[in-house]
Amino acid sequence: MIPDRCTFCKGRLEERKTEFIAWAGGEVVVIKDVPAYVCEQCGEAYYTPEISQRIDGFMRDVHQKSSASGRFPQATCH
Ligand SMILES: [Zn+2]
Repeated sequence: MIPDRCTFCKGRLEERKTEFIAWAGGEVVVIKDVPAYVCEQCGEAYYTPEISQRIDGFMRDVHQKSSASGRFPQATCH
């Protein structure tokens, strides 16, 4: 459920597209254009249940693909 205001700093939430960044199998996965409610003050992002489910589904796909490939994912050099 999306709160009316940020639960951390009580700032106003603004509907906008964000990038969701996660780690999967040693790789950084970026999902672009994820609709979210973002706090104007601290930048905390809130996702609707529908979006959370889409992200969960996407992450499952990524994990299945990386384990099915049978190789180590390429690591980023630092
Ligand atoms: Zn906030």
